[in-house]
Amino acid sequence: MYKFLAILGAAALACLPFTASAQGAYPSRPVKLIVPFAAGGSTDLVARQLAQEMTTRSGQPFVVENKPGAGSTIGADFVAKAAPDGYTLLLGTISSHATAVGLYPKLPYDPLKDFAPITEITAIPNVIVVSPNNPKFAKVNNFKDLVALAKREPGKLSYASSGSGSSNHLATESLKELTKTFMTHIPYKGSGPALTDVSAGHVDLMLDVVLTSLPHLKAGRLKALGITSLQRSPLLPDVPTVAEQGYPGFEVLGWYGLFAPAGTPPAITQKLYQDFSAVLKSDKIRTTLESQGGPAIASTPQQFEELIKSEIVRWKKVVQVSGAKPD
Ligand code: GLU
Repeated sequence: MYKFLAILGAAALACLPFTASAQGAYPSRPVKLIVPFAAGGSTDLVARQLAQEMTTRSGQPFVVENKPGAGSTIGADFVAKAAPDGYTLLLGTISSHATAVGLYPKLPYDPLKDFAPITEITAIPNVIVVSPNNPKFAKVNNFKDLVALAKREPGKLSYASSGSGSSNHLATESLKELTKTFMTHIPYKGSGPALTDVSAGHVDLMLDVVLTSLPHLKAGRLKALGITSLQRSPLLPDVPTVAEQGYPGFEVLGWYGLFAPAGTPPAITQKLYQDFSAVLKSDKIRTTLESQGGPAIASTPQQFEELIKSEIVRWKKVVQVSGAKPD
């Protein structure tokens, strides 16, 4: 009889869509980590590093899947509408949760209501880069020189971005507005393919985070004209900030964070926060991220949500003032 009851109990448990014991076992199958940009860009690299550590830690594969397009909003929308069961997560960024929100009047998702923010991962300054082999830049060695060139040749320079609405797009629009210059926007599906084209001289310039710019700079495929942090980066001590080149206070950090769809059970979001913050605080990931230009942050979900709210306000204003449009 007891045995019969035990079997019945087990059968009932198996039928429940979500039980305390099932939560305890999370993750019990592979977890998809959606990257809303192309492979080879900063978001992709951050995601792959963390996915590898989470796979080791949890014993279940964390599998990165790239869903690029429309400045990261296609991938973010996919996660916003995914089952809130902890098995589809977003490596979201300043783009999916702030800059694109300002640019697209009819975004298919709500960056706050449709997601459970878990933690901010890192925040990395951007470097303004051009190809050293591009003859246009033979005498351009810093941001002031670039502004002077753009003023001499209005509309002749092109810049690449990770897509319409990406932080790379709107940060450059913000610089255009600040310097009263005009450059043509060429959107890509991520900074990976965009930087390749800039280093080949197909597009004139780009602003992208240290993580992805640095290997090209070290290899001599790109040259840096300025950095968008308030202080110089210890990784690029000779590159002056945009702020010190005549635009005090100018700062744009590309930030990255983990999101689950809204409605994910709190036991799962808490477990994700614990695991990801442990990974971020590990020596291995901390030193890796620092060598790529940003600190390992591991903020709480509440702190992360505050950042997102303030960044949405900031970038809506940038769109209004610059008149930026989706390209
Ligand atoms: N730094 C940009 C962002 O996070 C682009 C990332 C990428 O192309 O991967 O919005």
